[in-house]
Amino acid sequence: MNILVINCGSSSLKYQLIDMNGEVVLAKGLVERIGIEGSRIKHDTTGKERLVIEEPMNDHKKALELVLKAIVDKEHGAISSLDEIGAVGHRVVHGGEDFTDSVIIDDAVMEALEKNIELAPLHNPPNIIGITACQELMPSTPMVSVFDTAFHQTIPAENYIYAMPYEYYEKYKIRRYGFHGTSHKYVSKRAAEILGKDIKDLNIVTCHLGNGSSVTAVQGGLSVDTSMGFTPLEGLAMGTRSGDIDPAIIPFIMEKENMSFDEVNNMLNKKSGVLGISGISSDFRDLEIAEEEGNVRAKLALDVFANKVTKYIAAYAAQMCRIDVLVFTAGIGENSAEMRERICEGLECLNIRVDKELNNIRGEEAIVSKNLSATTVMVIPTNEELMIARDTLELVSNR
Ligand code: AMP
Repeated sequence: MNILVINCGSSSLKYQLIDMNGEVVLAKGLVERIGIEGSRIKHDTTGKERLVIEEPMNDHKKALELVLKAIVDKEHGAISSLDEIGAVGHRVVHGGEDFTDSVIIDDAVMEALEKNIELAPLHNPPNIIGITACQELMPSTPMVSVFDTAFHQTIPAENYIYAMPYEYYEKYKIRRYGFHGTSHKYVSKRAAEILGKDIKDLNIVTCHLGNGSSVTAVQGGLSVDTSMGFTPLEGLAMGTRSGDIDPAIIPFIMEKENMSFDEVNNMLNKKSGVLGISGISSDFRDLEIAEEEGNVRAKLALDVFANKVTKYIAAYAAQMCRIDVLVFTAGIGENSAEMRERICEGLECLNIRVDKELNNIRGEEAIVSKNLSATTVMVIPTNEELMIARDTLELVSNR
């Protein structure tokens, strides 16, 4: 069966068409600047030349219409008719407490998604718009919703309840949810597969280190703790997000700088993290170069980032008693040997040791730990699209 995977952002749309018979990507692409001047689709069909479509796309429906046209295009397309798409899998950021797993989309699911907009006001609305547009264009094709939060719904209450008046959890569902769940689930499963072990017997810590970053403790295949919280702002220092800070800083800085809630929110999400510390960039490649050139604040930013990751890993080691496998994934985790080494240097007290030579790789599956390391350290490129397609196939096959 061919599955179309859709990931809708506020002004962008990523997609992949995957033939699940062999899990082969037939086509993929990116739509940028939806609803803004200069809308563009970059469409790649495996084995064919790239197709670039530049025409106005006022909304996601128009963008999807053009994407579907590109997919069945005689010259650049991957299939000859939309009937060859067996199901569509949609990435949805926030499932709240309603969804502990992926689901087939029906009216009740759409209602619950609407209800959860409150929890993810920036992310869920474009996800819902994408689903609705798809339903209009492909009314008889089954659709599945795969949530970033679902994998973390197994986290026990002592790890998700904030130490605030309990009534806020009851009234507003303020609790830790966690994100990047599809990625943490994929790489933890893949680690067990590569090692030829049953995931039920493993304690795994997965580090999704990209523009947004989070660390998850996976015990016996289930998420038991994660660093992101009520929103993706909590946890590690990130490209532009602050991660954990003393909450008392917020009213203090609002008063000192005469900032509004929106301004402080923007500062913590867009101007903080390694960008805020270094004053140079949120991109780790730029920071690594600047550090080599002797820039002290670039070094400090990278040190703060590494220390935070180390702290979370060590905390999860304490929670689970031992870590059998430590996995690095996403842009930084897959590509920066330097950052992996730096993080693991802080874990020598747990006898987690990286082999410099084995670690000298980028973007490929590998074991990078020393023989005597207490923990197997691995690099596993994430594949959220494939995970979404697998969940979609499983659900529509079992209908
Ligand atoms: P992601 O959000 O997973 O796409 O990750 C994007 C981030 O990965 C970029 O902002 C970079 O900071 C980082 N990154 C990508 N390639 C490299 C590299 N070769 N070395 C260090 N960092 C990298």
